[in-house]
Amino acid sequence: MEPIAARIEAISQSLPKGVTLVAVSKYHTEDAIVQAYQTGQRIFGESHVQELLPKAAHLPDDIEWHFIGHLQTNKVKYIAPFVSLIHSVDSLRLLREIDRQGARCQRTVDVLLELHVAQEESKFGLTVEACRQLLAQGEWKQMKHVRIRGLMTMASFVDDEQQIAREFATANQFWEEAKLRYFADAPWFDTRSWGMSDDYGIALTEGANMVRIGSAIFGQRTYPGQ
Ligand SMILES: *Cc1c(COP(=O)(O)O)cnc(C)c1O
Repeated sequence: MEPIAARIEAISQSLPKGVTLVAVSKYHTEDAIVQAYQTGQRIFGESHVQELLPKAAHLPDDIEWHFIGHLQTNKVKYIAPFVSLIHSVDSLRLLREIDRQGARCQRTVDVLLELHVAQEESKFGLTVEACRQLLAQGEWKQMKHVRIRGLMTMASFVDDEQQIAREFATANQFWEEAKLRYFADAPWFDTRSWGMSDDYGIALTEGANMVRIGSAIFGQRTYPGQ
């Protein structure tokens, strides 16, 4: 296996201009993150608050930490002071808590709404209809300490590339709808976070401008207890 630095450089160089790479470092060591950092990568994604906190404390301050995992409301307070983008907002309740914690630390926290387009039941995220309702309900417009930057989604874990493409296309269409209806005058609503190691090529053809890549950079993850 080639070293992390070689893999991340190859991936970065292959991405079209204007596409942001989030290096997903969950379950990988601080040393692995440093190897990627030394190539110039500054955006890293983590899925667990208890793993992100020590990494953020030990590693360089100019890293932009993205939170990509399911976020419990009672943990928002730990990451609100420093997180640069939360990809996984899937309820109004969570949005309210991020706004509240943003106010407490005098920040505006950037977020994406997580859309559920995959077939699998187990995935988190708002259905297109639920997301439409959240936006129509309008309470988010009064929130001064949270800013909706766009949408995130994950496709089904299947081999059928057409299905994956259809799911990303659904997210992309809804992004266009939301942009037109609610964010036409909001240049910050600019983010379409779809695509992981196995499907980012498809995601790019379906409008992604942010990809979240873990194992293709860092290798397979070993989960605790395995
Ligand atoms: C783990 C994870 C990724 C990265 O997955 P890879 O297949 O390792 O690239 C991307 N997005 C989310 C939400 C994840 O949890």
